[in-house]
Amino acid sequence: MEIIDGNQIAASVTADLKAEVARFTGRRPCITLIRVGEDPASVSYVRKKEKTAAEIGLESRLILLPVTITQPELCTLVDQLNTDDGVDGILVQSPLPKPLSEVAVFRRIAAHKDVDGFHTLNLGKLAQEDDTGFVACTPAGIIEMLQRSGVTLSGKHIVVLGRSLIVGKPAALLAMQRKPWANATVTICHSQTANLPALTRQADILIAAIGKPEFVTADMVKPGAVVIDVGVNRVPDSSRKTGYRLTGDVHFASVAPLCAKISPVPGGVGPMTVAMLMKNTVKAYRQNHGLA
Ligand code: NAP
Repeated sequence: MEIIDGNQIAASVTADLKAEVARFTGRRPCITLIRVGEDPASVSYVRKKEKTAAEIGLESRLILLPVTITQPELCTLVDQLNTDDGVDGILVQSPLPKPLSEVAVFRRIAAHKDVDGFHTLNLGKLAQEDDTGFVACTPAGIIEMLQRSGVTLSGKHIVVLGRSLIVGKPAALLAMQRKPWANATVTICHSQTANLPALTRQADILIAAIGKPEFVTADMVKPGAVVIDVGVNRVPDSSRKTGYRLTGDVHFASVAPLCAKISPVPGGVGPMTVAMLMKNTVKAYRQNHGLA
């Protein structure tokens, strides 16, 4: 069994980006991060994104907004950033506090600056296999992680647990593309799927993205499978200073010994997501400068 080291693979992605950015003349690629409120997880995610951007040599601008901001005010800000030639990518950190509508804000971001890949146009381009679009960072990170770990997708049966628009669905769309690095056969499962373990046991590659701590147990996994754990769940743990521990959607201790390869939580998909956000920002810059 081999543990897929997401931190190490993400570091190699960011090193590649750093070398590429160093060759750009003129201004540096710029990502603008918008955070509304003080949700502790959002504070930590945005900080990590700023830090990674700085390591690569990207410019990052942080806009902090109070929870009292209204939907029209937030949309006006996004409109201004959409027309700012100095900004290549815009990221609005989710979750947004209620009653703000995430979907409305994500759609407001100009598609060519939508480095999170949530805009309808970019999802459409993914479905059409049009590589000019931006793919959501977590599914893009999963596929990059598999490729850089030497896992062949072509001809494999991939079972994706979860059908969300930010993970499950785009991961499935990517894996089934008519491309030499993809060409997988994909089954998507969700909360209404019957006989789930019978399906997951058929997976050569199992991608778990449901948000249920340690849901995938050994009896659900085929021996020799590759397992990618996307889940990030906080489980109460009084022995920790934080009062919780992070766990994935896979019961790591029982599943790992069965697998050919498995990604852990933390240290798996999470760092890849941040790396792919940076990759999308550099891509946006290249497209804005006619370098793509
Ligand atoms: P989501 O929008 O809540 O979607 C969860 C999906 O799982 C839904 O499609 C749901 O089915 C399905 N599901 C729920 N319970 C199930 C069950 N018992 N059996 C089978 N399917 C079930 O979640 P998400 O945004 O995709 O995120 C999933 C997990 O990944 C979360 O833990 C999240 O924190 C994590 N995540 C991690 C990263 C990262 O960078 N590492 C990024 C994004 C998300 P229905 O459609 O039928 O409701």
